[in-house]
Amino acid sequence: MKHAVLHHDFVEFVPQVLEQGVLYVSMPYATAAHLCCCGCGNKVVTPLTPTDWKLFYDGESISLTPSIGNWSFPCRSHYWIKHGKITWAGQWSQEEIAEGREQDRIAKKERLSRVYVPEDVTQQQTPEPVVETSGFWRRLWRWITSE
Ligand SMILES: [Zn+2]
Repeated sequence: MKHAVLHHDFVEFVPQVLEQGVLYVSMPYATAAHLCCCGCGNKVVTPLTPTDWKLFYDGESISLTPSIGNWSFPCRSHYWIKHGKITWAGQWSQEEIAEGREQDRIAKKERLSRVYVPEDVTQQQTPEPVVETSGFWRRLWRWITSE
């Protein structure tokens, strides 16, 4: 049976046995998991990383992007999770799957090659304290420097 909705459940650890129709979200491990929405019972694990899936939580429901393409399952189902609702997407052809994997590979490679410059707190600019020259010292300075 195909699912039309996914209820989310924020957990620390994704349980071994998942319930149909529940999207388990583990923030400590940046992972979400659910059973394939076609009802085949296969476990779909979606790591949340800048190059994998991104999770949006609007306080009521969850959206995952990009779409879930279960190419490795016999069902080969493909759907979007938007605001907790399942939107079925068309099946991809072998070429499209290959292309998607290639794009994924490129994105990951690009991310790795990006130079990571950590923000150095020791290099933060500390404003120089502005010392107001007191009248006395100013006068003394003028007295010294004046001939
Ligand atoms: Zn399935």
